[in-house]
Amino acid sequence: MLSDRTRRRMSERLRQAGIEDTRVLDVMVEVPRHLFIDQALATRAYDDVSLPIGHGQTISQPLTVARMTELLLAGRTPGKVLEIGTGCGYQTAVLLKLGAEVYSIERLAAMLEIARRNLRATKLVHARLVHGDGHLGLPEAAPFDGIIMTAAARQVPEALIEQLAEGGRLVMPIGDEQVQHLWRFEKTQQGIQQSRLEPVKFVPLLPGRS
Ligand code: SAH
Repeated sequence: MLSDRTRRRMSERLRQAGIEDTRVLDVMVEVPRHLFIDQALATRAYDDVSLPIGHGQTISQPLTVARMTELLLAGRTPGKVLEIGTGCGYQTAVLLKLGAEVYSIERLAAMLEIARRNLRATKLVHARLVHGDGHLGLPEAAPFDGIIMTAAARQVPEALIEQLAEGGRLVMPIGDEQVQHLWRFEKTQQGIQQSRLEPVKFVPLLPGRS
């Protein structure tokens, strides 16, 4: 139930659901999602559902992870990526496996510890994990080729736009508790191009850290 075959089946479902980037489809076969969630829920790890990961937070459903990653890559090499909302570290692992240089910020120290443990268990140890408030981005490591946020903000934090490299993409959910959409921003020579995409459901981006 937790085998390679199960993950291959999940990846095939993602392809049927419209994910086209084969790098993303392949990586989702490689990363053992069940190692990022509570053992009691492991049998549901490859269903297309979001699951609780403690501290009132959730791991996104595989289709959302694949979709956001594909939007972030936009057919290019991943380069230097900032993730906001480390959670259990699954999205971090996907980015690492794709060869990205990953910085990931989490506001809950306890959650960050869980991510650190999970990443270590999957031998993916080279992400820079930062305990902080993602609203501010990570100016000391900017600019980023990609920024991905896995919690919903009311509006796009200006600091994140500033920290994008030219040609860089920011993918994030924007909205309130009721209605959220995925947005994609790209920094071009002509300025910021933005598009609103499909509706999504994420936990809220909260201020400060604890
Ligand atoms: N990508 C994660 C999803 C985790 S849920 C995964 O694969 O598991 C979103 C996470 O964002 C939560 O862990 C939450 O604590 C964190 N978060 C919320 N507001 C934040 C902020 N301002 N800065 C950093 N992390 C934040």
